[in-house]
Amino acid sequence: MKIGIVGAGIGGLTAAALFHEQGHEVKVFEKEPEIKELGAGIGIGDNVLDKLGKHDLAKGIKNAGQIIKQMAIYDEAQHPLSTVELKKNSVNLTLKRQTLIDVIASYVPDHAIYTNHRVTKMENSDMKVTLHFANQEPETFDLCIGADGIHSIIRETVAPKAKLNYQGYTVFRGMVEDVQLEDTHIAREYWGTKGRVGIVPLLNNQAYWFISINAKEKDIALSAYGKPHLQARFNRYPDEVRQVLDKQSETGILQHDMYDLKPLNDFVYQRTILLGDAAHATTPNMGQGAGQAMEDAIVLTNCFKYYDFNESLKRYNKLRVGHTAKVIKRSRKIGKLAQHTNPLVVAVRNFIAKLLPNSYGERQTKFLYKSKSK
Ligand SMILES: Cc1cc2nc3c(=O)[nH]c(=O)nc-3n(C[C@H](O)[C@H](O)[C@H](O)COP(=O)(O)OP(=O)(O)OC[C@H]3O[C@@H](n4cnc5c(N)ncnc54)[C@H](O)[C@@H]3O)c2cc1C
Repeated sequence: MKIGIVGAGIGGLTAAALFHEQGHEVKVFEKEPEIKELGAGIGIGDNVLDKLGKHDLAKGIKNAGQIIKQMAIYDEAQHPLSTVELKKNSVNLTLKRQTLIDVIASYVPDHAIYTNHRVTKMENSDMKVTLHFANQEPETFDLCIGADGIHSIIRETVAPKAKLNYQGYTVFRGMVEDVQLEDTHIAREYWGTKGRVGIVPLLNNQAYWFISINAKEKDIALSAYGKPHLQARFNRYPDEVRQVLDKQSETGILQHDMYDLKPLNDFVYQRTILLGDAAHATTPNMGQGAGQAMEDAIVLTNCFKYYDFNESLKRYNKLRVGHTAKVIKRSRKIGKLAQHTNPLVVAVRNFIAKLLPNSYGERQTKFLYKSKSK
């Protein structure tokens, strides 16, 4: 089968690696001149590694990642609110985004990746699909995979009514070296009245951080924020937060307004399928966006291993639409809870959070491990 994949992100490259291994002719089209990931770090949970099973890619990811055993939430004065012990015998990892991309890309032959190829239009039918490019001749495929991210042009073509919802907060991200964290196996969040700060350990005394602040969509005041603004805003947060912001370079801070996609009813449209953020962009509150993109690719390629063409597409749709809708909804809910800033509401929320047993947090993520892989 000749497969055209639009987008060389985490989802598109995983699909390319696994389809190539099955002997299909794969071409990945990326609009950027190189495969370079914007962004600091990424979490990959055991739900993904489980689905990869004994595949070599799982080993590659494990070797490159920092193991995380616990996720802890504190208030801004560092009183503990909640602790989630990650499943015993499970492996949950954090990596630099570029490292993850490099590991996955090493399973895709160079000749299959076409950078500087911006897809501008797609023509779909029951028999074939044709991709058009900004600067190259069109090309026809048996199957097209739209893995072109949250602002997917492929989704716009097949599901023009799909709706991105702004979630009311913007996220800053960065990466620091040489940090002294109390425990490099614990990812921490601090929920407070000025915003939410997350600090996530990486290998070799590095860490990535994120800060979520409630904001209007495309807020001009916040897009002017740099390191000094963040330092001033969070100067009463715990030492660890201040240490990380001090270590951050002046440049290299990313900022994105947070959107999610209203869950779609279908990921399959004739000879085109949607995968990753193109299909189910979610807020980062469960750390599952990249993981679910990889799961899509694993499930899709598993289906092609066991079923014929039509049945594979049917099963992919069935297994992924409902599961990822659940991730979107739960992640959105966590974001709403975490982003309260009214001092009274924060006090009540924190009071309740302290009373809840730790097993409550664990139950919120249990469903992630239960989705089928073929
Ligand atoms: C602040 C933040 C923190 C996050 N933290 C985590 C986390 O800890 N764990 C986690 O699992 N996820 C996290 N995510 C989510 C994760 O980054 C995404 O879900 C993931 O990158 C989606 O992968 P993808 O391959 O679907 O899309 P993308 O990574 O967006 O890749 C899409 C690719 O398509 C290319 N492209 C777009 N349009 C075209 C076109 N027309 N023609 C050709 N190429 C095109 C783009 O250049 C890009 O390379 C986070 C996201 C944010 C914003």
